[in-house]
Amino acid sequence: VHEASIVQDLLERVGALARQHGASGVHRVSVRLGALSGVEPGLLAGAYEVLRAGTACARARLDIEPVDARWECGSCGNELAAGAALRCRSCGGAGRLAQGDEILLERVEMEVP
Ligand SMILES: [Zn+2]
Repeated sequence: VHEASIVQDLLERVGALARQHGASGVHRVSVRLGALSGVEPGLLAGAYEVLRAGTACARARLDIEPVDARWECGSCGNELAAGAALRCRSCGGAGRLAQGDEILLERVEMEVP
């Protein structure tokens, strides 16, 4: 995964939101970053520092909220322990990732005149 293209995409989405709301500036951007997203928080923050110049986020702080991986049964939704056999103990269904691979724009704080 290329952090720069993720940040580019993030900046575009925040810019579009800011225009939509007629914001004069963005104070803070919060993203949820899954442990299995394949993205290094440090690299993401570094790319943000470089790429935000001249965008709506030029003065906005970036908050990165780490999200642990969580597994659940694909059939009954039972939570499964990470690292254990990914098969449900109550119904035998196969496990699936419930969270942890996401990169989500969670919140944008902007100044609307
Ligand atoms: Zn189950």
